[in-house]
Amino acid sequence: MKPAIFFWCSMLKTLTGIVLKETDYSNSSKILTVFTKEEGKISVMYKSAKQYKKGAYATAQLFTIVEFVCYEGRKFYTHASSQLLKAYRGLKDSIVKLAAASYIAQVLLYSYEEKQPDERAFLLTAYCLNKIDKNNDAYAMGYTLLYLLKLLAITGYAPLLNRCIDCGKESSLQYFDTIQGGLVCRDCHTAGNHLHAIQPEDIHTVYYLLNVALNEENIEKTDGKRSIYLIKLFNECLEDKILKKIAAFDFLVTLTCGE
Ligand SMILES: [Zn+2]
Repeated sequence: MKPAIFFWCSMLKTLTGIVLKETDYSNSSKILTVFTKEEGKISVMYKSAKQYKKGAYATAQLFTIVEFVCYEGRKFYTHASSQLLKAYRGLKDSIVKLAAASYIAQVLLYSYEEKQPDERAFLLTAYCLNKIDKNNDAYAMGYTLLYLLKLLAITGYAPLLNRCIDCGKESSLQYFDTIQGGLVCRDCHTAGNHLHAIQPEDIHTVYYLLNVALNEENIEKTDGKRSIYLIKLFNECLEDKILKKIAAFDFLVTLTCGE
């Protein structure tokens, strides 16, 4: 029979992830929700996370990339040690950046079940958070829109943009159907809550963001209201697919539109 110490050692795992949510568990402990490169979304019980010692405080913060060494339990992992790899410190200095990052975090958390690995989602999230962190506020909505569209694509919900989803016609595409996830032509348009007008330049923007390779994108300083309109359309698409309301979207709208 194996000694107990070997049993515990065999349960240790090293995982690299982005901290997306923190929940107080006790006076000194937190449960972190982390999207890891290896295993997707996991919960990590972090005892003494609030004590400022040996860098523990730094690795228990939102919007950091951390290498965790954890014990795997049935419901969650228990933190053994951790190392801070990257902190997006600029996100907390601007309310616009914080709203964008909070929205991205919620979109990711709601789009995946626990332990559903997707390295592309991990890399996309790290990339967009980094861009929002490093650039000024004017780029935040453009990168949020890029994120949302690319996440829809990798989860299998890329919008159909080349023809009408009802009749197949390739011209007069003037509306977007958020339930069917595609364009609708003028002739097929009927009044409905899930049909929204869309401009040719918006279709071009969406097509470009869906297809451009990361690191080659040219995100210009975008008109906040135009971007938020497109984010609204695709947020509605996403909510319909995941059957959840993304509350952080309301905060983003309030900031951008002053409503
Ligand atoms: Zn049509």
